[in-house]
This record gives sequence, structure tokens and C-alpha cells, in this order.
Amino acid sequence: GGRYGLSSKEFTPSMVNAIYVELKKDAPKNHFTVGITDDVTFTSLDIPEKIDAAPEGTFRCKFYGLGSDGTVGANKNSIKIIGDYTDMFAQGYFFYDSKKSGGITVSHLRFGKTKIQSPYLITDSEFVACHNPSYVTRYDMLKGLKDGGVFLMNSAWSIEDMEKELPATMKNEIAKRGIKFYNVDAVHIAEKTGMGGRINTVMQTAFFKISGIMEEKEALEYMKKAVKKTYGKKGDKIVEMNYAAIDAASDAVVKVDVPASWATTTEGAALATPPSDPFFKDVVFPIISLNGDDLPVSAFDPRGYFPVGTSQYEKRGIAVNVPKWNIDNCIMCNQCSLVCPHACIRPFLATDESLKSAPDTFKVKEARGKEVEGLKYRIQLSPLDCTGCGNCADVCPAKEKALVMTPLEEVLPTEKPNWDFAVTIPRPEIDANKNSVIGSQYQQPLFEFSGACAGCGETPYVKLVTQLFGDRMLIANATGCSSIYGGSAPTCPYTKNAKGHGPAWANSLFEDNAEFGYGMNLAVVQRRAQLKDSVAEAIGFASGALKDALTNWMDSAEDADASKVTSDALRKVLPGAVSAASGKEKETLQAIAAADDLLVKKSIWIFGGDGWAYDIGYGGLDHVLAMNENVNILVLDTEVYSNTGGQASKSTPTGSVAKFAAAGKRTKKKDLGAIAMTYGYVYVASVAMGANQAQLIKAMNEAEKYDGPSLIIAYSPCIAHNIGSGMGTSQREEKKAVAAGYWPLYRYNPDLKDEGKNPFVLDSKEPTEDYQEFIQTEGRYKTLAKQFPDAAEELFKRAAEEAKERFNYYKKMAE
Ligand code: SF4
Ligand code: SF4
Ligand code: SF4
Ligand code: MG
Repeated sequence: GGRYGLSSKEFTPSMVNAIYVELKKDAPKNHFTVGITDDVTFTSLDIPEKIDAAPEGTFRCKFYGLGSDGTVGANKNSIKIIGDYTDMFAQGYFFYDSKKSGGITVSHLRFGKTKIQSPYLITDSEFVACHNPSYVTRYDMLKGLKDGGVFLMNSAWSIEDMEKELPATMKNEIAKRGIKFYNVDAVHIAEKTGMGGRINTVMQTAFFKISGIMEEKEALEYMKKAVKKTYGKKGDKIVEMNYAAIDAASDAVVKVDVPASWATTTEGAALATPPSDPFFKDVVFPIISLNGDDLPVSAFDPRGYFPVGTSQYEKRGIAVNVPKWNIDNCIMCNQCSLVCPHACIRPFLATDESLKSAPDTFKVKEARGKEVEGLKYRIQLSPLDCTGCGNCADVCPAKEKALVMTPLEEVLPTEKPNWDFAVTIPRPEIDANKNSVIGSQYQQPLFEFSGACAGCGETPYVKLVTQLFGDRMLIANATGCSSIYGGSAPTCPYTKNAKGHGPAWANSLFEDNAEFGYGMNLAVVQRRAQLKDSVAEAIGFASGALKDALTNWMDSAEDADASKVTSDALRKVLPGAVSAASGKEKETLQAIAAADDLLVKKSIWIFGGDGWAYDIGYGGLDHVLAMNENVNILVLDTEVYSNTGGQASKSTPTGSVAKFAAAGKRTKKKDLGAIAMTYGYVYVASVAMGANQAQLIKAMNEAEKYDGPSLIIAYSPCIAHNIGSGMGTSQREEKKAVAAGYWPLYRYNPDLKDEGKNPFVLDSKEPTEDYQEFIQTEGRYKTLAKQFPDAAEELFKRAAEEAKERFNYYKKMAE
């Protein structure tokens, strides 16, 4: 049954039709025909020469949008309008990639007077819309558009611009196939009418205007009705803005007068080409170009392995504004790098020698600090990986900001080549203090350019852990946002350093992640115990340099940094010793060589969100904490199930509005840290990067070092919080949360007991800001005050009291 996974007898005629269409298109690809031809002879079925998978008169349209630009919402809306107000049937399929935001969406819509029974995506269409101009070089959007069909673009391009911005192949198709080509500058209209970056209303209007599916006037009237229904609650201003956008858009759609020269031109924008990395070229690139369905199964590793370090090739270019560095203002604090959720702004250190071939605009300054003396310093941005969230510029502490958000087009021509150069600079060997903000940022992030939302509060923590321990890490990841941006096929944001070392990562299930990581740990412990047995045996018969190397390794096996040095030393003498040995001794040395991956002490991490740790995976988490093994657990606490759209978890605080808690959560947030501390042998920390960077770095280092279970609970602002000042201030929001007593900072280190000290250290001060004022700057609370003012008053008061009680409890513990 090919990829349909059905036996031929179960094929419905419409499915056979769909397969037939595919077969005709891809006739030489035998992976399609195998298994079908045995049972079904197509000639015996009544298949017309030209198959139209939908009944006569069906209008099929495809819309290419950017995740979160509102395209999908607008199309659902169009379906409702057409379905409700005409006698037509309507169908919609929505295709997404797995980026949390800023990915691609393709909406497949069918409308028609005959019942639509086409349970598959559209191949042939009458209408295609491209909502993002950067797609023209990346996707073959005209594939399947019928001759004489309609193509609608959103771009700010004039016809002259189009000569160079559109690829030659696209222009050829438009001209040769008589495609009716329309353009609308939706970004301009959206901005002009106060809609910001949301171009959906404009594009929807343009669709109704030129598709001819309904009377334009009528359609726009219904659109306005829908706007009132959707946004009425949010106030008249938003409704008026949408009305204005509808009216302006209708006038702004222009039919492009396609020049005859387009039919044969060979000039135009270059199509996206894959880098030479073989896996990226052969597997990742076809998938991100939306041709993944053409890949044979054999392209993939049967074990489900995926190479790391492929997100670096995506270069999505989704930011509108990116930070521009002012070298003179920069005080070299590296905070921008620490807070960047996407690892796309970093300090680079270089020797004079390595700067010889630098581009002219690659300006550097003398690095500051003893460990980097004599080196040159530069903050470098990767403009095509930046999401434009703005956190780096927001936190920059320089007297006059050293980072200013600037339109991408302005920065791209210099900063793209500068970034490309920066990543080729050999990393100078420096003895940076990984325990400091500055020093930690000289370490290579081994988690970069993930598909998390712009400004995500979770990813800066994940990135920091990889900077500190990434070259010897194993990660078990619970299902949730962190598993989506951590492993969204086809690319992988986890990567490796120049030596080829980096995190190994896997996701099992939502409910068993703590156990999954615990199992990884047992495997490593068991295998290392075997390795130690072999080494002990070898020490018995070895002599000279080999004996020294083996003994040194054995003495340092449980010390991360030292084991790196002794492993390298052992690797130098081992191959020679293996060749020289014979018999049982040879076998023992071979066993040691075969366990090369275990020589350096491992760092086992268990990642997940609050939905996992507080709720669905809590039983397992508690069990693993109780087992007293050396594992590190990082809870990325967004106080809701973020990945599935913001459902309440046991971490959701009193009064917060979430799905399943529409009238405000009635019960208090579970204090996971306090529960874990009752064991007495669990390291526990509560952290918030934006509030205290030094405390966070200290906690991560202590947790990793602690020879037992560690739990770090990290406050993570999320789009689900609806922060008043936007996700570009998610770091500042963390600071405000701590200042208002909303989020406590502390560390509980059982090792301190051995020193006769109090294991509990309260790192946050008495609140200086008002709790209730703080929460009402976030939409998740503000909504309640608007919709249920009485309940809000009571719940907010209670929430403030609970926070106070919790603080006092901690204060007592610290005393
Ligand atoms: Fe990173 Fe956001 Fe700054 Fe871009 S704008 S460099 S994504 S912090
Ligand atoms: Fe320079 Fe500002 Fe970055 Fe600090 S945060 S390193 S001052 S650009
Ligand atoms: Fe987006 Fe929130 Fe998930 Fe981060 S945690 S990726 S902000 S939904
Ligand atoms: Mg969450």
C-alpha cells in the first residue's frame, strides 16, 4: 500500500485518483508503484485521461504564509464566510512545519457547489497566494497552479524590483502559462492602518477581491461582521483598525502587467541552494523546500538517528529588525549573548593573525580581562538567524545602548559576510571562568537557531547549559515546547564543537521523561563501571607511559575537567599499546579503546516543562529524585502547557487565566521546589535569568557538580503570558517578577550540610514592587480583571497573600 499504509482493496476511488495523479507526475519513482501494481491494474479502473481530484467547478486555492502571521486564521475565517453565506461547500487543510513560530504554513482550501470528498492536500489549483516575499526563491509555489490561474503576492516590489527579486524560472512560468499575477503591499497597509506585522486581513481582502468566488462587496461586508465578532471584546479600536485595513487593501491590489520578456528571461534572483553538507543536501533540504514527500524511506536512518548541527543551514531571515552593534558604546559584558534565545549574537575573540582575511567592516576592539589579554573582541550577529525579538538590545547595560534594533535589509549586506567570517575564526584557547556571565559566553553554544518563538523564555537556559556542559551531555527531553524546538525535523539545533563533541539528545514520551533520563544514567554508570574494571586490570599488567596514563585516568574518572585531560593523554598511548599487545591483554586494551565515548565523565540532563514536571510526569520525577542518583533536572516553568496552547498545569498560579481555567485558576501553584527539598539530599534551585544572571550560573554549576539528584526550576516567560511590553522584554519581565515577589530565587545545596552550614540560601530580597500591579501587566491576569472583576479582586488578593506566605517560609528556612 505504499505510503498510504492500506491494502489495495481498501482504496476508495478518490484515493486511487489521487495516487494516479502522483504516479503520473512521478512516473519513474518506483517506490510509489511497488505494492500497488500487484493487486490493482489501473487500466481496469475507470480513470479518465485527465484527473481532476475534485468535482467539476471546485475552486482550489493554496496560501503560503509565515507561522503567526495570521494566514491560517484568516483562511479559517474565509471558509466560515463562504460556508455560511453562499450555497457552496467548503474544505480546509492546514499544513504546518514544526517551528514554534516563524515557520511555513500552507493552507489548502477547496470551495464548490458539489460536495467535496477529497481527503488529501491539493496538487492542482486555480489560485495561489504568497504571503511572504522571501518564499519566491525557496518554494516552487507555481507547481500545480493551472494555466491561466491566479497568483497573488504580498510584496513591496515595483515591476522593476521584480525583475531582480523574482527568480527567472518563476517569471518564465508566469508569462508562458498566462498566469494572472496580482500584487499587494500588505506590510505597508498593515502598518499604515495600525495592524503592525499582521497582514492577514489585507491578504484576505485581496483574495476576495480577485478570486471572484463571491461578490467583493458582499464578502467584505461579511469580513467586517467576522471582525466584529472576533475582536469586539478587545475594544472598538481594534475593530476600527481591521475595518480600515479591509478598505485600504481593496484599493491597493494591483494587477501586474507581465512583460513579454519574462517568458524567456534568464535573469533574476538566485534560487536557494543547499550547502555541501551531504545529509543537509540530500535529506534536510528537500524537506525544507517542501519536497520531503518525494524522499524514499531509504533516505532515513532506520534507527531514527538524525545528525546534529543542521539548524545552522536554515538561515530563515524572519526578523524585521535586528540589533546593530555600536563598537564604541560596548562595554563587553556579554549579556546580549547570554540572553539571546536563539544564540545568534555572540562575542568572538580573535588573534591578530586570524583577522588578516577579515572583511573591512569586521571592526574589533581590545578584549577586556586577564584571561583574554592580547586578543581582539567583537560582538557579532547572525542576521539571518535572528528572530528580531529585541531582548539583547533591551538588556544591553551600556550607558548609551550598544545595540539598536535596525531594519534587517540595512544590516544584512555587512553582517552576513561578517558572521560567515566570524564562525571560521579558530577559537583561542583561553582559561575563561565558566562560572561568570562573561566567561560562560566565551563558550560555544551547542544549541543554536532553534525554532522557538521569538523572545522565548525557555531557550536561553537550554543554551546556557550546553555552553557549560554541552560537550559531554546526554539529554532526555520530555514532550513539550522543548522537544519541538529541540528536535523539530528536519533540522536539529543541538550541535557539536570543532572536536565533534556535543549533546546527545532524545525524546521518549511526555509521561516517562524522568525515568528515561534515569535509564540513560544507569546505562552510563554500568558501562563506566565495566570500563573501570578493564582499566584496573590493565593497570595490573601495563608499564611505563601506558601505566601512567591508565592510572591518571582512573584517578580522575569522576572529575569532569580532569577526565578530559587524562582521556586525551590515554588516547595518545592506547592505539600503540593495543597493536603491541597480544592475547588476553590485547582484549582488555581493546575493550578500553572501544569504550572511548565513556572516558570523559558524562553530564546527564533531564529537560521538560511544567506540564511534564508538575503534572503528567510528576510521579516519575519524584521517583527519580528519590533514587539519589547523579542526574540533573531542568524544569522550564512557563506555568502552563505552552506547546498545546496554554492549558493550566499545577504550576499555574492562583488567578491566572489559562485553558481549563478560563475564569482564573482557583487553586494555588504547587511548590515543586519545597517538595523536593524535603528529601534533604536533592539539590534544588529556583532561578530567573533576567533577575539574577550570576545566581543562575552559580546554580547550574552547583547542580551539575552535586553528586546526587539536582532540580533547577527556571522561570520562563512565554507567549502564553501575553506580556504587556511584548516578548522583546521577556528578560526584563523575569526581573520584574522577582522584584514583585512573584518568583523567588534560592538554592538548596545538601553539600553545605557537610560543612556545617544551612543548606538553604535565599537569593532574592524582600519584594520591592507591588505583586498585584505586576501581574496586571500580563494579559493572562488582566483578562480576568476585565471579564470577571469580582473574582479577579478576590483571587489576585489571595495570590498576593500566597506569594507573601511562601516568601516568609523561605526566609525562615534561610535563617
Ligand atoms: Fe537574539 Fe533576539 Fe537579539 Fe536577535 S533580537 S540577536 S534573536 S536576542
Ligand atoms: Fe556590548 Fe551591550 Fe552586548 Fe554588553 S550587552 S556585550 S555592552 S553589546
Ligand atoms: Fe513559544 Fe512559549 Fe514554547 Fe517558548 S515556551 S517556544 S515562547 S510557546
Ligand atoms: Mg510550560
